[in-house]
Amino acid sequence: MQDPAWMTPDMAYFRDTIRKFCERELLPNEPRWEAQQHVDREAWLKAGQAGMLCCGIPEQYGGGGGNFLHEAIAFSEQARALAPGLGNAVHSGIVAHYIHAFASEEQKRAWLPRMASGDLIGALAMTEPDAGSDVQAIRTRAVRSGDDYLITGSKTYISNGTQAGLICVVAKTDPEAGARGISLFAVETEKVTGLRRGKPLQKIGLHSQDTCELFFEGMRVPASALLGGVEGQGFYQLMAELARERVIAGLVAIACADRAIEETVTFTANRKVFGKPLIKMQNTRFVLADCATKLSLAQAFFAQCAQRLLDGHLDPAEAAKLKYFATDSCGQIVDACLQLHGGAGYMAEYPIARLYQNVRIHRILAGSNEIMRELIARSLDPLGA
Ligand SMILES: Cc1cc2nc3c(=O)[nH]c(=O)nc-3n(C[C@H](O)[C@H](O)[C@H](O)COP(=O)(O)OP(=O)(O)OC[C@H]3O[C@@H](n4cnc5c(N)ncnc54)[C@H](O)[C@@H]3O)c2cc1C
Repeated sequence: MQDPAWMTPDMAYFRDTIRKFCERELLPNEPRWEAQQHVDREAWLKAGQAGMLCCGIPEQYGGGGGNFLHEAIAFSEQARALAPGLGNAVHSGIVAHYIHAFASEEQKRAWLPRMASGDLIGALAMTEPDAGSDVQAIRTRAVRSGDDYLITGSKTYISNGTQAGLICVVAKTDPEAGARGISLFAVETEKVTGLRRGKPLQKIGLHSQDTCELFFEGMRVPASALLGGVEGQGFYQLMAELARERVIAGLVAIACADRAIEETVTFTANRKVFGKPLIKMQNTRFVLADCATKLSLAQAFFAQCAQRLLDGHLDPAEAAKLKYFATDSCGQIVDACLQLHGGAGYMAEYPIARLYQNVRIHRILAGSNEIMRELIARSLDPLGA
């Protein structure tokens, strides 16, 4: 497949470095990490040394000094390598950017270099047992108590939850105020009491990723943990970063679809049915042609959205379209590619089987695809919300 126009020689060099790191340091450990349901702590430090963490954060804060496309390469290569355990998209793609955008200068200098080295792992705790898509329905409460806040509530499905040392917690500071009553807290876990982490959750895929529940039992955090320093900004802070998160969800899906097609071309070229290679059957050719066409469309749309993100004017509805189209197409592509593998596609040893397990979540994460369609429809509706 031809490299996209944005893949300059420098970018290609960075991609090759990350690709080698994923193949050498992450992939061989995946079976063990799947069994223990999280990566080794050391893997984060190695990823930091390899320049894979916080590569879009400015150098003055210890980051790689790159832009969104460097992050895109890091997340794509990891997904393509089928080494999803290291929760870097949440750590570098989401949490580091909340800190960079909304934390105080002192906090940025304290946390971002440690995040870039892998010493401090980030998590975002938004979803609750009774509130996922509907963020305004969250029940976690943060109540001011002298110089501190006391946070009470619980969160679920939290990526990096077991290992995180810095958790961005979404909580209500004023339950009566709707969106204006939501605030974001950056919680340094080693400095608080009242935080309990649940056991790793049993998932249908991404077994090596650390996903757990969190319980805040009167968790006392200093008032300085309130990101931005003003109550009630949380919903707007979340909205400000959502377009980036949706483009990341799209690009990870694109990387998985790309790998699925590559695997299937190789498999069908080698597999003989009725005396000839499977790839010579018209059905195989048409299915692969459909898959490759969808992938090219998603890649072109990604390039457009990424450029707008870099230019600072990516429309939320456009980001929603990319997330919806790329993840939905990825689901269709991986399913069709698995079918072309026959029984082998159902065997865990084949990459296509692992892709099938891993990509299912993309249509649910980062705003479900139903929510994406709702947002897109809202942008078209002349009668308003
Ligand atoms: C592996 C994994 C990792 C995750 N990591 C994190 C994390 O790090 N941090 C975090 O905070 N969360 C995380 N999540 C949670 C994830 O973001 C939520 O699961 C997701 O937002 C959906 O919320 P929900 O599960 O509560 O589903 P619900 O919101 O209950 O939705 C159920 C169904 O209803 C549909 N629906 C909801 N509202 C509407 C509507 N208005 N119109 C039409 N249909 C609707 C949804 O699309 C979905 O199909 C993770 C989840 C998983 C599985």
